[in-house]
Amino acid sequence: MTAVASSDGDPVVATLRSAGVGEVAPGSSLAALTTLRVGGPARALVTAEREADLTAVADVCRDHDLPWLIVGRGSNLLIADAGWPGIAITLGRGFRGVDIDGDQARLGAAEPLPTVAVRLADAGLGGAAWAVGVPGTVGGAVRMNAGAHGGEVSDHLVEVDLVRLRTGTRETWPVEACGLTYRHSDLPDDAVVVSAEWRLAPADRDTVREQIREIRDWRREHQPLNRPNCGSVFANPPGDSAGRLIEDVGAKGLRVGGAEVSTKHANFIVTSSGATAADVAGLIATVQDRVESTHGIRLRAEVVVVGAVGAAP
Ligand SMILES: Cc1cc2nc3c(=O)[nH]c(=O)nc-3n(C[C@H](O)[C@H](O)[C@H](O)COP(=O)(O)OP(=O)(O)OC[C@H]3O[C@@H](n4cnc5c(N)ncnc54)[C@H](O)[C@@H]3O)c2cc1C
Repeated sequence: MTAVASSDGDPVVATLRSAGVGEVAPGSSLAALTTLRVGGPARALVTAEREADLTAVADVCRDHDLPWLIVGRGSNLLIADAGWPGIAITLGRGFRGVDIDGDQARLGAAEPLPTVAVRLADAGLGGAAWAVGVPGTVGGAVRMNAGAHGGEVSDHLVEVDLVRLRTGTRETWPVEACGLTYRHSDLPDDAVVVSAEWRLAPADRDTVREQIREIRDWRREHQPLNRPNCGSVFANPPGDSAGRLIEDVGAKGLRVGGAEVSTKHANFIVTSSGATAADVAGLIATVQDRVESTHGIRLRAEVVVVGAVGAAP
């Protein structure tokens, strides 16, 4: 595999540009695309605007034996300090949109979930107020089966449109095929979600708007939203809460370099300026070790780790 390069003279960048795949940024920092604000550059970052851009990028990856990485809002990503040796793909405005028809909504994969929640409420559709608190995109939310406050993507998803990067095909998968379980899907690694169809229940607009207000207030009060973070770092183990276990072992406020277990919410790690991905990975491992040695439970990281994120020395 080729090493990360950041020059405009990179032949891969030239090939991407001549393929007309949308905006191409060589050696682009991925930290800026994530809510944790750590991590190195990609060999190139492509902002795709059309499905054809995705298959063209896939062709370049195949020809140059490069891996791809799909980046949504980066709100659940921990990217290695060394960066990503291949091509990072993000979906541009061409993949946005909320089209509501009766109790169904066709959602563009790049649409932010909080916007979706508000649009559905305005249309008098209920059940998805939870989405206002999850700062990801529709695509990332389907991939993660995101959820909160008792709701999750699998409650609403009818079908999902995918572009497969290995074959260049466009496929529509019914929800039953997606293998959605707690913060997990069985979507293959080459599947780019391009849009999703949700079905909602009719509801009183003002009631849903009030739910949205309450969720926003609750989050402001209980989560460290003023500092870079990736939401819950660990999935809850069956029948328990990761935050409770972390708090119980006295890990609130624990630090490794510029990464710190939030004092506001134990299942959040916040970063300061100068923090590295290795700091975050080191803190994750320390927390896992502490909880395991006291409670015999190894917490599963919910955050998606990209590249070789070595723990800090
Ligand atoms: C403050 C805060 C609060 C949060 N609260 C919650 C919460 O309550 N519940 C919850 O579930 N999550 C929560 N999260 C985590 C995160 O917002 C969700 O996991 C979200 O679904 C990730 O979406 P994203 O677009 O940011 O995906 P990214 O973080 O960019 O990517 C996550 C994964 O999805 C893949 N992916 C992204 N886009 C696509 C696509 N179009 N097609 C295929 N794969 C794709 C990526 O390759 C990666 O594997 C929170 C995060 C923050 C920062």
